[in-house]
Amino acid sequence: KRVAVVAGTRPEAIKMAPVYFALKKSKTLEPVFLSTAQHRQMLDQAVGVFGIQPEFDLDLMQHGQTLPELTGRVINAVTEFIEKENPDAMLVQGDTTTVLASSIAAFYASVPVGHVEAGLRTGNMRSPFPEEMNRKLTTPLARWNFCPTETSRKNLLKEGIDPKTISVTGNTVIDALLWMRERLRKDGIPALEVAERCGIPETFCTKFMRSGKTNGRFILVTGHRRESFGHGFENICHSVAELTKQYPDVGILYPVHLNPRVQEPVRRILGGNANVTLIEPVGYRDFIWLMDRSFFVLSDSGGVQEEAPSLGKPVLVMRETTERPEGVEAGTCRLVGTDPDTILAEAKLLLENDAEYQRRSSLQNPYGDGKSAAQIARILEETI
Ligand code: UDP
Repeated sequence: KRVAVVAGTRPEAIKMAPVYFALKKSKTLEPVFLSTAQHRQMLDQAVGVFGIQPEFDLDLMQHGQTLPELTGRVINAVTEFIEKENPDAMLVQGDTTTVLASSIAAFYASVPVGHVEAGLRTGNMRSPFPEEMNRKLTTPLARWNFCPTETSRKNLLKEGIDPKTISVTGNTVIDALLWMRERLRKDGIPALEVAERCGIPETFCTKFMRSGKTNGRFILVTGHRRESFGHGFENICHSVAELTKQYPDVGILYPVHLNPRVQEPVRRILGGNANVTLIEPVGYRDFIWLMDRSFFVLSDSGGVQEEAPSLGKPVLVMRETTERPEGVEAGTCRLVGTDPDTILAEAKLLLENDAEYQRRSSLQNPYGDGKSAAQIARILEETI
């Protein structure tokens, strides 16, 4: 039986790679990787790290694309793919336009859909941003809802979703992370090599990347959410600038998302700051290396919130709400919004209070044990 594994953006590629490989091991299932290329460059970077060559590439990204245009293009192109290739099932991951639009195409063509990372909810139904609605609308279209945690399972039960469609499998991001962490430990890559590949100046590397507990520290920053476009990103950048003033011995390393609405304020406000290094998004391998070496992480990323507990890195989450409350409840992650005073106060706490830092960096990861993809493959083997 053929299973189409769909991915359109960087996090989808990272979280689907373990599923693709688990399906490859199956005797009865054959995966084909279908790239929509919603975000061309960042998807390719992530796919490349795992050595995956997508069997099908719809190449849909267009300059200045809008969500309605993209949605239409994905529905049409995935429908054509289904007509030609006739897959027995389709797997989607997460909450992007690729996920919802591919699920609609599969539903119309009566191809059963499996939703990997199902059941995440912020609870904010009035959010004008697409993610919550994308994942919520994908749920009833799915024949299999693979929930990462018990909390996400309960979210679906509350919505009246048929329990027979739901399994708690853990999050495949942990499978990818543990695989990568193992590989990095074996390879033992020198800091200067990573720095050179990522465009990090040698001076930054020698000053801030010494992995000392109280010297040579850096904070890793990432951010890309629509809800922070405009004032949110400006506030974040002003907080980062203020941090470098108050803590000249702490560096800031910021791989800036390629979206022009992120690039513009970040480069305008932080561009000339000597203690801030702005780089292009980096490959997954280098990103995990950098996260492992950082002191803590300041981010609005979903995947980073899930990965950080396994690397013992506290995360200040630059959002008002999160659909991933487990990391906050466990204590590794803390919601700080985009208010500069709050960000500064929370960063200070981590930089100055060693006991608090130790507590938050030694907690268990609530998102999985690295065996999620194998569970998903087994469920599909038994039920397709
Ligand atoms: N990541 C990466 N390179 C970077 C920044 C992040 O490979 O420069 C990885 C990170 O390890 C995580 C994923 O990308 O697995 C998160 O992607 P993103 O923040 O874009 O999306 P989200 O998780 O918020 O949906």
